Amino acid sequence: MKRIRFALLGLFLGFLAASCSKESSVAFSAMNTVMHITSYGKKSEKANAVCKKRIEELEKILSTTMDDSDIFKLNNAKGKPCSVHPETAFLLDFTLNFAKKTGNAFNPALYPVTRSWGFTTGSYRVPSAEEIEKLLALTDIRNVLVDGDTVSLSCGSMLDLGAAGKGFAGDEAVKLLKEKGIKSAILDLGGNVQALGCKPNGKPWTIGLRSPEDDGVPVALKVCDCAVVTSGGYERFFTAEDGRTFVHILDGRTGIPVENELVSATIVAESGLYADVLSTTVFVLGKEAATELWRGSHDFEMILLLEDGSLAYTEGLSDKISVLSDFSKIEIIR
Ligand code: ADP
Ligand code: MG
Repeated sequence: MKRIRFALLGLFLGFLAASCSKESSVAFSAMNTVMHITSYGKKSEKANAVCKKRIEELEKILSTTMDDSDIFKLNNAKGKPCSVHPETAFLLDFTLNFAKKTGNAFNPALYPVTRSWGFTTGSYRVPSAEEIEKLLALTDIRNVLVDGDTVSLSCGSMLDLGAAGKGFAGDEAVKLLKEKGIKSAILDLGGNVQALGCKPNGKPWTIGLRSPEDDGVPVALKVCDCAVVTSGGYERFFTAEDGRTFVHILDGRTGIPVENELVSATIVAESGLYADVLSTTVFVLGKEAATELWRGSHDFEMILLLEDGSLAYTEGLSDKISVLSDFSKIEIIR
């Protein structure tokens, strides 16, 4: 009798464990990339579907090219005020403030310049210094006024939330998963990785950084409950007639594609949005200025892959990082 009771208890516990850690995954295209969400728990399938729907909804609001989006409307309003979704107003507020903090290294109003380089259409060209100078005047963040849910842009100014949208979408998805009772999930939104909780077995997630050169993973991180976001020049760039290459991330202060010692910048932070804007910014700033920014903040860590084959990471990651390939040098930033 006792043995039967034990067997039944074992069966019950086994069933409980299985139902608690039911795994569901969804993959879809949105925001110009492929997204994967894997979550665990009884309601994981439903929760993933809710996230997918929300991210598609956000894309329709924030896209620069979909002609019903808030950003498209603003960019074509010829100076007239537009009423926008609260999410757009929030993101504009956030990114404009962030632009101020970074002395415009990050700038959500850079679109006229990225457009003239052809990054928005794929018809690449190298604009003249005079042209860039003229267009830079349009990127002054004082040209954007956010008053509640009404936004006005000066004529000729244009917005692009491409460096923040995926991060915000990640935060929204994590919020929805939590609301559905999910305690464990991993989201890969086109290189923006977000971890909700730890793995169902309580151990941290292993997140591999992509290698710019091959399919290998040069560095892996063991983390729970955070965002890991990478910006790099190696994914989207073009080569001009003279052989020079130009990457899709521009220095917001000069309007010129980033050309520094960094191959990529990875940020680890609590929020996806913050990690997203920071990864772009750190990539623009380069190692020295990024180190200064890190020393003055206490809310993010970073990993830098450098052109000379070396690796640098901030000391807060020391117990989370595994170095998996040969670097010419490894520096711990303190
Ligand atoms: P990705 O979206 O490729 O993962 P990022 O988050 O770094 O990488 O965003 C890059 C995009 O942000 C560019 O394609 C462009 O639309 C926009 N962008 C480029 N330079 C800047 C900048 N200095 N500040 C804000 N946005 C930028
Ligand atoms: Mg970014």
